[in-house]
Amino acid sequence: VIRCRAAVAWAAGKPLSVEEVEVAPPKAGEVRIKIVATGICRTDDHVLEGYFPNVDFPVIPGHEGAGIVESVGEGVTSVKPGDKVIPLCLPQCGECSFCLNPESNYCLKSHVSEPQNLLPDKTSRFTCKGKQIHHFLWVSSFAEYTVIPEYAVAKIDAAAPLDKVCLLGCGLPTGYGAAINTAKVKPGSTCAVFGIGGVGLSVVMGCKAAGASRIIAVDINKDKFAKAKELGATDCISPRDFKKPIQEVLIEMTGHGVDYSFEVIGHVDTVIAALASCNMNTGICVMIGVPASGSVISVDPMLLLTGRTWKATLLGGWKMRDCIPKLVSSYLEKKFNSDLLITHTLPITKVNEGFELLRAGK
Ligand code: NAD
Ligand code: ZN
Ligand code: ZN
Repeated sequence: VIRCRAAVAWAAGKPLSVEEVEVAPPKAGEVRIKIVATGICRTDDHVLEGYFPNVDFPVIPGHEGAGIVESVGEGVTSVKPGDKVIPLCLPQCGECSFCLNPESNYCLKSHVSEPQNLLPDKTSRFTCKGKQIHHFLWVSSFAEYTVIPEYAVAKIDAAAPLDKVCLLGCGLPTGYGAAINTAKVKPGSTCAVFGIGGVGLSVVMGCKAAGASRIIAVDINKDKFAKAKELGATDCISPRDFKKPIQEVLIEMTGHGVDYSFEVIGHVDTVIAALASCNMNTGICVMIGVPASGSVISVDPMLLLTGRTWKATLLGGWKMRDCIPKLVSSYLEKKFNSDLLITHTLPITKVNEGFELLRAGK
């Protein structure tokens, strides 16, 4: 058993509490990882708000980490102590019907099919003050050590800087993949990205890499515009600067609407605005943001009857175990610069400050 620090969410609506926790050794098929760095994704904030009824408290959140294998359980063959790894919030068991389908990146072992609040044997490896603490998406990267099933761990290049490539655990692949895998953005096309946080900026990077000629970033926080332009946005607009709905503004700017629109906020009204912003016939809208559990989206059927395509993405469509190591190699070859997404670096004791910065749009 390892004793280390972890940021524990004891109940919804409360700040995280940095505690000493016990982390049990990995059982058969599991890997214990020393987490070196983690990002903060808005999804973690949704957890703290109690947005997801299928996440159990107390819980150790965090799902965008990178680390080093500390020990492995019986039967683990793909990684060994000392290997650099990224834990995967979307596993790839390699055996289920979705894993066997080359078109799919879903895995039936994912949280959406069966909650990952406990490891597959229905027990937790975390305890604190005598209480069992839940895992989050099996990753729980807000702990200094965590235990994860082998099929949710990707071994990466030993040269990768862990404090940078932790972003390849969620935000970067989600946004970048939404553009190149889910929407399949074509060269010369026009794109609109609603919400340019960490994930939305990664969409901008993906649209640029795919050769889009116009990338319109839409956000109510204008402080984000400089970074969006640096990463490839050609226009940046705030809905608050217009009297008319933003979809009408985008249609006027582009003639008939953009070729591809992306919602990366998680609000029902912006999901509808993004759908209406792509052109009525060949336009493709990708929903990435996660609206509150139980929300309902109602749209005018004409938006779809004219031919638009409305889709969504989980983690950008990548088969995670196969693709994350390749994305790390692309990062090392400087094919994209996700370092620009890093705004602050804080120690674990300041994790709540990190969330305050996220909520303040910093
Ligand atoms: P973030 O908070 O960093 O960014 C959200 C951005 O939206 C901010 O810049 C904010 O100013 C802007 N915004 C808020 N309200 C707006 C409005 N009404 N109009 C225009 N802009 C507005 O969040 P993030 O970490 O980039 O995550 C974005 C969303 O993606 C979240 O809902 C998160 O849960 C979701 N997500 C989904 C997946 C997936 O697999 N589908 C993966 C990761 C994250
Ligand atoms: Zn995330
Ligand atoms: Zn599977």
